[in-house]
Amino acid sequence: MADVEANMKIDDRRKILFTPQRIQKRIREMVTRIEADQQGKELVLVAVLKGSVLFLADLVRAFSRQLAFDFIGVSSYGSSLASLGVVTLEKEISSDIRGKSVLLVDDILDTGRTLGWIKEHLRRFSPQEVKICVLLEKQRPRVIEVQADYIGFRIPDVFVYGYEDKFRHLPYIASLREGEKPPALTGRRKGWRVWGRSTR
Ligand code: 5GP
Ligand code: MG
Repeated sequence: MADVEANMKIDDRRKILFTPQRIQKRIREMVTRIEADQQGKELVLVAVLKGSVLFLADLVRAFSRQLAFDFIGVSSYGSSLASLGVVTLEKEISSDIRGKSVLLVDDILDTGRTLGWIKEHLRRFSPQEVKICVLLEKQRPRVIEVQADYIGFRIPDVFVYGYEDKFRHLPYIASLREGEKPPALTGRRKGWRVWGRSTR
């Protein structure tokens, strides 16, 4: 892994926030709570592509009960000043969630646009309920008011990477050091577009 990281030229900027052990321990704690809350309900996890896929896999394996999972894909654009931004559906869910208990799973709750839009979108399929589970919740004002029901860790409003989309092979979550700009910053406002097209 050291070579891979060196190639990314991010080693010296790395500040590890959550180790693999801490992430896995927290996931087990979250699942214990989810299982207690969801007793007797038919549970479907709906994961937001692609950033939450690793989190979903670890969540699912921590469960000791039967459940189903599905995926939804969206792109969101727009500055934080625009109250709505633009969210477009790229991949619709493919299972029947009518009357079921849905747990919407994403890696990070940031502006709230993504999860706010998806939660509203899923209502058209008449689930019994939609709860939200995120690994990280950024402490910043939401553009769209969304409350997560299950939160792994609360973090300040910093750009983080690892255990997600572009750097999904990294088992830890890191942030850039304070004042440090992400490498090869293209001038776009959102740091995670730095490494190419937004693939969240
Ligand atoms: P929101 O719609 O809440 O602004 O954005 C949520 C999505 O943006 C998350 O699913 C995540 O993929 C992406 N995102 C937000 N902040 C970060 C970050 O600091 N690092 C990375 N890698 N992705 C982020
Ligand atoms: Mg995402």
